[in-house]
Amino acid sequence: MKAVLDHVGIAVEDIAAALAFYRDALGLDIEAPEDVASQRVRAHVIPTGESALELLEATAPDSPIAKYLQRRGPGIHHITLRVDDIRAALEHLRARGVRLIDEEPRPGAQSALVAFIHPSAAHGVLVELKQAAPRAVSLTAQRLPFGHLTLVSVHDGLFRLDGGAMFGVVPRTLWAPQSPPDDRNRIQMATRPLLVEADWGRMLIDCGIGDKMDAKLRDIYAVDRDHTLDEALASAGLAADGIDLVLATHLHFDHFGGATARRGGRLEPRFGRARYIIRDEEWQEATHPHERNRASYIADDFLPLEAAGVVDFFDDDRIIRPGVRVVRTGGHCPQHQIVFVETAGKTAVFTADLIPTTAHVRDAWIMGYDLFPMETLAFKKRFIREAIEREYLIFFEHDPLVAAGYIREKDGKRYVDQVL
Ligand SMILES: [Zn+2]
Ligand SMILES: [Zn+2]
Repeated sequence: MKAVLDHVGIAVEDIAAALAFYRDALGLDIEAPEDVASQRVRAHVIPTGESALELLEATAPDSPIAKYLQRRGPGIHHITLRVDDIRAALEHLRARGVRLIDEEPRPGAQSALVAFIHPSAAHGVLVELKQAAPRAVSLTAQRLPFGHLTLVSVHDGLFRLDGGAMFGVVPRTLWAPQSPPDDRNRIQMATRPLLVEADWGRMLIDCGIGDKMDAKLRDIYAVDRDHTLDEALASAGLAADGIDLVLATHLHFDHFGGATARRGGRLEPRFGRARYIIRDEEWQEATHPHERNRASYIADDFLPLEAAGVVDFFDDDRIIRPGVRVVRTGGHCPQHQIVFVETAGKTAVFTADLIPTTAHVRDAWIMGYDLFPMETLAFKKRFIREAIEREYLIFFEHDPLVAAGYIREKDGKRYVDQVL
């Protein structure tokens, strides 16, 4: 079982006195308190790098914290270990005869799932297990009427990439609290293609990782096929054959792996009726990889499309279909492009790897994967300013929790106002 220290819980009798020490004397920042109704406690989280302290105050006389204080007085109450799959962890412990307090996970603070191990099994320490992000969040299609079009955010499952590579020059101490790394330093990522429904047809922008990846790569990238694009399309009442057009932002495997499928030993276009729209210079990049980008392009994702005669190549920025326009950003790779969806005075932008997650809305939070980070910076600075001023609805292709939202700025701090 893999686990990382999430936080240390401290039972507090007098919250004002505790704040005087932790906040005022130690000078630590304390987040807004959160009530956990099931435990009848109020939790005050104090971020301390990659782990946190959690001051716990009882909100009812029958709260486990009130009972603990009566028996043992204030002090360390529990430690919390974060695991990827809490049900699997409980099963693992049960199989080894470890005494549990909770046989089944239950809801904890920040929408996590938690379960306690009995202190008698853990040498006198109460150990809490926690599974951070709720897995059920928006794995099915989310439909949003948008002017004369309908936008459907779909999901092709989760994977993980190295946290350091995802944040470039940003130190781990800054990104880790936002995107908690696992024991192999990888952070949780999603693949969320965007479906545009219009009177001219259904266009899928990017198409996920797909199902062709071998076991070694699946392990490296923790590719999770519990949820797939087929399921997400089905939840929107669609099948792969219902897609008319597939537009690629670029041909990296985490964006375009789903373009082809292996059927009876043959590689075929995954979307049987679709035309695939690909920038010709990106095709040149992908078919002539070099040492620095070789790991990102997998020929099986795109070569079978050309063989099947289903690719429409284009050059330069242009309107692909009424309301759908591509703009080259460069930076991430020379031909990386983002997609503007413009209708009835409203604008949505599918930003692909320009702003892969909501943590990347800060100008300098740029991926180490980018071939030309200064190009990314120049484009991103201008684009985000414009997105804030003109209220563009931004789609975050790789964010595990937020599919789309508005970027806002308050007191010089950027945040995302979630819509989907
Ligand atoms: Zn990419
Ligand atoms: Zn990507």
